[in-house]
Amino acid sequence: MPHTKESILQALNTNNVQFLRLQFTDILGIVKNIEVPSSQFEKALNGEVMFDGSSIEGFTRIEESDMLLKPDLSTFLIFPKFSHEEYERGKVARLICDVALPDGTPFEGDPRYVLRRQIARAKKMGFELFAGPEPEFFLFEHSEDGRASTKVNDQAGYFDLAPIDKGERIRREITNKLVEMGFEIEAAHHEVAPGQHEIDFRYAPALETADNISTFKFVVKRVALEYGLLASFLPKPVAGINGSGMHVHLSLFKDGKNAFYDEKAEYQLSNTALYFIGGLLEHADAMCAITNPLVNSFKRLVPGYEAPVNIAWSTSNRSAMVRIPARRGAGTRAELRMPDPSCNPYLALAVMLAAGLDGIEKQMEPAPAIQRNIYHMTVREKRKHKIRELPGDLNQAVDALERSEVLTECLGQHVMEHFVEAKRQEWREYSAVVHQWELDTYLSNY
Ligand code: GLN
Ligand code: MG
Ligand code: MG
Ligand code: MG
Repeated sequence: MPHTKESILQALNTNNVQFLRLQFTDILGIVKNIEVPSSQFEKALNGEVMFDGSSIEGFTRIEESDMLLKPDLSTFLIFPKFSHEEYERGKVARLICDVALPDGTPFEGDPRYVLRRQIARAKKMGFELFAGPEPEFFLFEHSEDGRASTKVNDQAGYFDLAPIDKGERIRREITNKLVEMGFEIEAAHHEVAPGQHEIDFRYAPALETADNISTFKFVVKRVALEYGLLASFLPKPVAGINGSGMHVHLSLFKDGKNAFYDEKAEYQLSNTALYFIGGLLEHADAMCAITNPLVNSFKRLVPGYEAPVNIAWSTSNRSAMVRIPARRGAGTRAELRMPDPSCNPYLALAVMLAAGLDGIEKQMEPAPAIQRNIYHMTVREKRKHKIRELPGDLNQAVDALERSEVLTECLGQHVMEHFVEAKRQEWREYSAVVHQWELDTYLSNY
């Protein structure tokens, strides 16, 4: 049964909820919330709660700072108990909100609105995007003085079974909490690197998936903290071992059918699928600024760690940026492998959709699929197969983003401007630091 204002008020009441969190996301993907006590529940559900947007990253200028939070009733949930003390203050529930200007019109700097616009565009073309993410993360110990560290607490590897370590217990606990919150968990396992884990939840329409990703990150961090560990979604926390990606499985549906599947075609992939892939490849370098938005993101995108470096697609090889998993029929999909979990999930899904739809509109044929391990190809071979490389660093990715008309259109001027400004600043700060590598490599030689 879909939620209504009345059913939510009743649920808040019967469950003795004391606080309601109104959540939204800033341009960099950080979840913000305004918490209201029970006396304000009705006002909150009416979408009448105002907040000052001027202090939110990339939101507004001082002169237009009042904003409204319009709750999306379908996102209602009551948080489970994360710690023993917590409930003494009463239960907490949340609603994810769209951000609006005082006159009620959607705020164009709201990442959820950016995604909504692409979803509407897809709908006009008869399509609905489904997305299923595979977020990876590390569990780290805190250092003795309580600060974040990159010390891991286990030595296990990919799919390892025994022994049950702290990491595994926590992963189970995270899974339990997510299930309590209505997530359908499809798989949870140890990843390749020590201390690294992956939990996959069921695919859903794009907006729901973006909401789920931000909820997921919060729950993972919250549960880990309860066990004294730090959960980090930083793409490459430790050099020399695998980084953390967030592969995203994408499929378009039309009239209730998977539009990527064509029984009679080569690879059983429809033209829609091929053009969508063509669009993803065409716009990959610009997309990267959004799907891999940190200086650190590009340290994951290097050869040898199961993360893509080259703009190519494959029906078999995992070194390609787009892989087509073996499932066909209703499960036909493209797995985009370059995104990492530090991205803003709303903007990331929006640019994926924009790129794919552009491919469909312009009928972009992708170059032939590459079935070999691309890491092992020479530069000449890559040139022959017309395989380009992904941007080498954040600055190059932002250059590509700024050049892209399709993504500028997708993000809108407000988000584009604020995003680019924030990322250029990050790059400038990083570039001005003298790193340990430089000292190790140069100090005594020059
Ligand atoms: N950790 C790898 C990445 O960075 C993926 C490994 C895997 O899922 N097989 O994308
Ligand atoms: Mg996986
Ligand atoms: Mg994985
Ligand atoms: Mg995968």
